[in-house]
Amino acid sequence: MYPLKNVESMKNMPKKQRKDKTYCLGIESTADDFGVGIASFTGEILANKSDSYIPAEGGIHPREAARHHAEVADKVLNDALSAAGVKPRDLSVIAFSQGPGLGPCLRTGATVARALASYLNIPLVGVNHSVAHIEIGKLKTGVVDPVTLYASGGNTMVTAFESGRYRVFGETLDIALGNCLDVFAREAGLKHKKGLPLGAAVERLATEGKNLVSLPYVVKGMDLSLSGLLTATTALLHRGSCRLEDLCYSLQENAFSMVTEVTERALAHTEKEEVLLTGGVAANKRLQSMLSVIAQEHDARFNVVPLEFATDNGAMIAWTGVLAYRHGLVTPLEESFVKLRWRVDKVDVPWIQ
Ligand code: AMP
Ligand code: MG
Repeated sequence: MYPLKNVESMKNMPKKQRKDKTYCLGIESTADDFGVGIASFTGEILANKSDSYIPAEGGIHPREAARHHAEVADKVLNDALSAAGVKPRDLSVIAFSQGPGLGPCLRTGATVARALASYLNIPLVGVNHSVAHIEIGKLKTGVVDPVTLYASGGNTMVTAFESGRYRVFGETLDIALGNCLDVFAREAGLKHKKGLPLGAAVERLATEGKNLVSLPYVVKGMDLSLSGLLTATTALLHRGSCRLEDLCYSLQENAFSMVTEVTERALAHTEKEEVLLTGGVAANKRLQSMLSVIAQEHDARFNVVPLEFATDNGAMIAWTGVLAYRHGLVTPLEESFVKLRWRVDKVDVPWIQ
């Protein structure tokens, strides 16, 4: 994963610095959120600030989102540093989301990270965004070796650690779970009320659904497909024959059952004792309850990442930067190019035994 050149290992650090006064600043910018987090080397999250791009209409426009990130970077950085009570010169490492994600957005975060690391003359660590969602979930819930369902606006996968990496047991073959909910919400004319995500608007309406409408349920082996479900639900919406509440309810029931089925099979296969739900869609209570049922049936503990760390955030990048750096991993500037399709199963995670 990370080039092992120019490694400044912990062993060379003064003892005091190794312990408490060592901080990593992490920058997240894979899609609509620009986030900055600060983590200590002992796992305290000292700051987690972000600013989200909300399109006037339609989905995320990558260049518009990147422009938003460039505009707010300075403010979010300053907010994070002052919330943490940390001066730039107190930082030991800069971490950034190197991929996967939208090119223009990733490049903006990487540019800020490179500039900071060069100016402060400290190492840079490129972090895999999906690994970071899993690691922050583990840090914040205390789980050690879970089967993880990571479901967000851009990713949907079931992973578990095996032989040095997080292996993908199942994933979406087309669109992500959060994206499926967001597109349907936009088709239905739902808005980001008080900055709330569109998925939360679908969740609220779904609680008032009474009739389960028949919709496609597509699990292929261990993978799943959500685009047919989205098309069918949208077609019913435009036909006007079903209540919106019933459609939100049925869309959720089908999509969540699909990801839960795959998670359950991964759990049965790996016989792990923990289930972790992470990513923006982890906020959804109905999804949480479906997963907690299958976890219980397999005598596994169910854990969900706290809301603040569910959606894309800088803290998860800072913490994963700490894990990588503590294992002597850094990313030289000339290898800090962004990786738009960087899969989680291509990343070595040497901090896990
Ligand atoms: P992320 O990509 O991790 O930043 O997460 C954003 C995604 O999470 C978007 O697709 C949101 O609509 C979705 N999301 C946030 N809250 C909820 C919720 N309560 N129910 C379903 N989806 C949600
Ligand atoms: Mg996001």
